[in-house]
Amino acid sequence: MAKQDLDKKKRKSCTLCADKVESIDYKDGAKLRRYLTEAGKIIPRRITGNCAKHQRMVAKAIKRAREAAIINYVFD
Ligand SMILES: [Zn+2]
Repeated sequence: MAKQDLDKKKRKSCTLCADKVESIDYKDGAKLRRYLTEAGKIIPRRITGNCAKHQRMVAKAIKRAREAAIINYVFD
């Protein structure tokens, strides 16, 4: 079996791929929060199950959302 197939089986499927998400709106704070810890840190993709492509997208959207003050850096 190819290594790629093995990884695919082991890994949780990326919910964003499953939903065919092509872009993440940084203004969608509610969605972005699903990918943040209580401390406001981005949850690593080994936990979320996101693929590299979508994890990058999430990270970028979160960064923009922070700059636009849509989500807080730290949730007190
Ligand atoms: Zn994905």
